[in-house]
Amino acid sequence: MEPLSRDLLPVSAVVGADGRLSVGGIDVADLAKKIGTPAFVYDEAELRDRCREAVSAWGDGVAYAAKAFLCRAMASLAHEEGMCIDVSTGGEMHVALAGGVPPDRLVLHGNNKSEGELATALEAGVGRIVVDSFDEIDRLERLASVGTCPSVLARITPGVEAHTHEYVATGIDDSKFGFSLATGAAHSAVNRLSKSTVLRLVGIHAHIGSQIFRVDSFTHEVEVLAEFFTALGLPELNIGGGLGVAYVEGEKAPSIAEWAATVKEACDRLGIPRDVRVTAEPGRSIAARAGISLYQVGTIKEIPGIRTYVSVDGGMSDNPRPVLYGSGYEAFLPRAATADRPRPARIVGKHCESGDVIVREALLDDPKPGDVIVTPATGAYGYAMASNYNGVPRPPVIFCAEGDARVVVRRESFEDLTARDAP
Ligand SMILES: *Cc1c(COP(=O)(O)O)cnc(C)c1O
Repeated sequence: MEPLSRDLLPVSAVVGADGRLSVGGIDVADLAKKIGTPAFVYDEAELRDRCREAVSAWGDGVAYAAKAFLCRAMASLAHEEGMCIDVSTGGEMHVALAGGVPPDRLVLHGNNKSEGELATALEAGVGRIVVDSFDEIDRLERLASVGTCPSVLARITPGVEAHTHEYVATGIDDSKFGFSLATGAAHSAVNRLSKSTVLRLVGIHAHIGSQIFRVDSFTHEVEVLAEFFTALGLPELNIGGGLGVAYVEGEKAPSIAEWAATVKEACDRLGIPRDVRVTAEPGRSIAARAGISLYQVGTIKEIPGIRTYVSVDGGMSDNPRPVLYGSGYEAFLPRAATADRPRPARIVGKHCESGDVIVREALLDDPKPGDVIVTPATGAYGYAMASNYNGVPRPPVIFCAEGDARVVVRRESFEDLTARDAP
């Protein structure tokens, strides 16, 4: 019933006396008219603030996990604000480099890096390669023997798995990622890496999950890793990403600063030397809250005694998270951002699937065909996971700052949809 909580909006979001929402000094409903819908709109200051918070909390070396949201503008922004960039494929590496990120500020991840991806990384001189398997050690040793000596971290599977509100100790680890601590693979891997004459082992890495609200999950991760790590006497410990963000009313996520403070305290308590670079790689917590999605309402269908369906001009092609994970979102009308929202509705997309839901149980003011609807906190894993399903062109990405709206990725066109087809 209540108007939308401000906690779900970008920090710079302002609701004027007339009830209209603006982000980065741009009236959102007007912007939708100008650039069309659907669209991803980011508060650029929010992105920058989160990057700065991460650098100030973790120190130099903290990396933005590009898979949450990447385009050239985002890569440059994160780099300008002092973050390294985490990439997990040759494609992400290409975009980050094209965004002007110096190769030594890149961290390369992936459980199945190809020979080509590794060769490109070595040639470019990426700062860190996070080694994930014995096969990869073979490949790297073969490739590196003819060139420079890359700095590598060993990815360890700590046997801790965290989900939104809890973590589980998984014992023997059933994972495609990393070297298991429990099976002894971790010991063998660091043994091999530390003896390598062509690879420079600088630290260990672990990642326990995503959308994690409890910082004690990370404390537990450090507890599991501490003895193993300390015995190696290495200079870097990367605890991965995964800090959660609020998507719906009532959720409360720790800040990046609280996350870092908790982890660093645990490191101190567990005797990890002070001069070790303890770092992390947040993705979602940098990008999610800065972004909102704009849609236009097309059809409204009231099924008596059942529910009201509000159909918008996007859907699972620009936000597959509700389909993939059953994720919840909020929605509101940016022309009346402080209005009560008395009407329950299901907001659905335009795809040929009954499961094409954006918000399963939305509360809205009084939506009419033609209205613009906003879903907040869609800055991470939305654009990044977008597809052309049903031939729907992918939305543009707009950065708003100080009254200026900058198109950083244009809308896909129908011509784009056939551009790669053989003539
Ligand atoms: C996905 C991922 C991240 C980022 O996770 P977020 O939940 O977006 O913070 C960081 N590191 C690794 C290795 C990942 O796979």
